[in-house]
Amino acid sequence: MQTGKLVTSGIVLRETETKETDKILTVLTPDLGKIAVIARGARRKNSRIAAASQLLTYSELTLYQRNNWCMLDEASTRELFDGVRQDFVLLSLASYFAELTESLTDEGEAREVLPLLLNALYALGTLKKDPVQVKAAFELRLLALSGFEPLADGCAVCGCPEPEAPMLDVVRGIVHCGQCKEPGGLSLPLTNGALAAMQHILYCPPKKLYSFALDAPQMRILGHAAEAFMAAQLERSFRTLDYYKAILPDDL
Ligand SMILES: [Zn+2]
Repeated sequence: MQTGKLVTSGIVLRETETKETDKILTVLTPDLGKIAVIARGARRKNSRIAAASQLLTYSELTLYQRNNWCMLDEASTRELFDGVRQDFVLLSLASYFAELTESLTDEGEAREVLPLLLNALYALGTLKKDPVQVKAAFELRLLALSGFEPLADGCAVCGCPEPEAPMLDVVRGIVHCGQCKEPGGLSLPLTNGALAAMQHILYCPPKKLYSFALDAPQMRILGHAAEAFMAAQLERSFRTLDYYKAILPDDL
């Protein structure tokens, strides 16, 4: 970043309380990607930047550089995602979205990732879309944008465009017919509908991401496959995901 002030937009992926009344924020911006920002006095009563310094708040931010730190000067809140914030279960799922995004983004442009996250929060909190659907679509699309796109446009073994009894090998990142299963890997069963939904998620224009429907059992199969694919590809766990799954009212 150049010296002087810079105005950008961004959503807080993580907030860390530091000494006195400050916070260090991890913010996802369209131009700079993921950046650390010091919010001086954000925990002080009546702070003008308090609202913008909360997890999952999307704001217009005025930043300046001091020593090697990026400092938050002013903020104008654009979206608080109240529908998410006021629902304990949705907030925990959204916190996982933030942690997953943080783990998959670096410095640099995030022109596709930022709207993906904003739209996921809007789908959860405002459109009240099925959280199972939003989670699966968000995970698969974010992984694809981050270089982990599965080969899902047919059977990766025999080349058949419409795999029979399709399965997703979450380790190799390929779709294959049930009978084309090879040793090794870890394959989960899909259905034709769940595979079509996965292809929609991976290949549709961004604005159409949630324009697909599946019955509840198939949505659950898609959800299991998406989460298993994420876990196998990233080889790590997420504290926020563990928490979300622990507080779910039933086995979603
Ligand atoms: Zn095949």
